[in-house]
Amino acid sequence: MARTLFSDAVVHRPLSGEPPLAPGWIMVDGERVLAVGAGDAPAADETVDLAGAEVWPGLVNAHTHLYSALAGRLPWPAARPTGLPRILEEIWWRLDRALDARSIRISARLGLVEALRHGTTTVIDHHSSPLATPSSLDLIAREAAALGVKVGLAFEVSDRNGELPFQLGLDENLRALFAYAAHPSLRALCGLHASFTLSEDSLERIADLVPFETPFHLHCAEAEEDLAHARSLGYESVVDRLAAQGILRPGTLLAHCVHLGPGDAELIAETGAYAVHCPQSNAHNRVGTADVMAMLGAGVRVGLGTDGFASGMLTEARFARDLGAERGTLLPRQASELLLAGGAAIASSVFGRPLGRLEAGEDADFIVLAPGEGGLGPHRRIRRVVSRGRTVCLDGELPGVDLAALHAEADAGAARLWECIQAL
Ligand SMILES: [Zn+2]
Repeated sequence: MARTLFSDAVVHRPLSGEPPLAPGWIMVDGERVLAVGAGDAPAADETVDLAGAEVWPGLVNAHTHLYSALAGRLPWPAARPTGLPRILEEIWWRLDRALDARSIRISARLGLVEALRHGTTTVIDHHSSPLATPSSLDLIAREAAALGVKVGLAFEVSDRNGELPFQLGLDENLRALFAYAAHPSLRALCGLHASFTLSEDSLERIADLVPFETPFHLHCAEAEEDLAHARSLGYESVVDRLAAQGILRPGTLLAHCVHLGPGDAELIAETGAYAVHCPQSNAHNRVGTADVMAMLGAGVRVGLGTDGFASGMLTEARFARDLGAERGTLLPRQASELLLAGGAAIASSVFGRPLGRLEAGEDADFIVLAPGEGGLGPHRRIRRVVSRGRTVCLDGELPGVDLAALHAEADAGAARLWECIQAL
C-alpha cells in the first residue's frame, strides 16, 4: 500500500480531548490512518503539503433522503401545504411514487456529490421508491461506491401503498442487509417509514422476519400525529410502541424525536438506540422543537441529520446551535457535540468499527479547511475532502465528475420526474 503523508496541518481531533496538533501530520496507508502526530513526520511515498490548513474528521449526515435531491428543481405550486400529514401526502409521497431507476440514480449522484462538496464523508440514507423497489438500494450503493462516500442504506417500509409494496420494501431491506454485510463502505439497516404508517400486524411481521441484531432506521415522533396514533392504539408514546414491538434496539436510529412522552428519553438511552436531530427540517415543517438537551441529559446519544435539506452539516449544526439557544433546547457547545461525537458514534455503530475520530487504524476520512477563524462554522471554505484515503473533492471539484453535465442531467431528470408526478 502506498503511504501518503498529509503534512503541515493543524490537526483537530475533538473527540480525543487533546488540543489540536500544530504543526501536525497524518500518515495514510491505503484507506486507513496509519499514524497522526506533531513535529517530525516519518518518510512517505507521497507528501501532500497542507500549508498550515486545518484538518477535521469527515462529517456524518445521520439522517437524510437522497431520493429528494431533485425536489428543489420541481415546479411545486407556490402555496405550500401546512401540517406534516399534508406535506407528506402532497409533496413527498407523490414524489417517491414517481421515482424510477433513472431518477433514483440521478438523485443519489446529485445528493452525494453535494454531500462531499460540503465535507460529508458518511451519509445515512433513508430511501423510498414504492413503485420501483427491488434493487433500488443497489442503485444508490453503486453511486456511493463510485464517488467514494460511505453510505448507510435503508428502504422505508410502510403500509401506505398496500400489501405488495410493504412486502417488497421489507424484502429489499433484507436483501441489502446480507448483500452489504461485509462491504467496506456500504452497510444496510432495516428502514421503516414511521410508526403511524405501520399497523400492529405489520410491526409484528417485521420483528419476526428481521434478524434479531439488525438495527432499524425510522422517523420517530416527528409530528404530533405520530404520538396521537400510538396513543390511539393504547400505547403511552411512539417510543413505548417501538419498544413493545421490538423495534427499539441497540443501534436503531430514531430521526426527529420531537414528541416524546415521559420516560422515553431514558428508555432510548437504556436500549442503546440513537436519536437524530433534524432542526432545519423540523422548523421548516413546523412540527415543533426537539428537546435535545433533555435527551442528552438522559444519556441518549444524539446525531445530526439534514433530512434532505441540501445545505450541508456545518449549516445544520449552526442552525441547531442558534435554534437551541433561542428555544432553550440545546447549549451552544452541544451543537458541535451532536455534529462530531454524535456523528462518529452513529457512523461507528452503522459500520461496526470505530470511525470519525481520526485515530490510527480508522478509515482516513477527513476534511481540510482553508485557514480562518471561528471553528467549524458554515462560513469555512472546505478545500479538500479525503474519504478512505482518497481525495474525493478538491476546491469544490470532484475527480471524474463533470459538475456542469451533472446539473444538466439533474435538470432533465427533474423535468421527467415532474411529468411522472403529474401523470400518477
Ligand atoms: Zn426523514
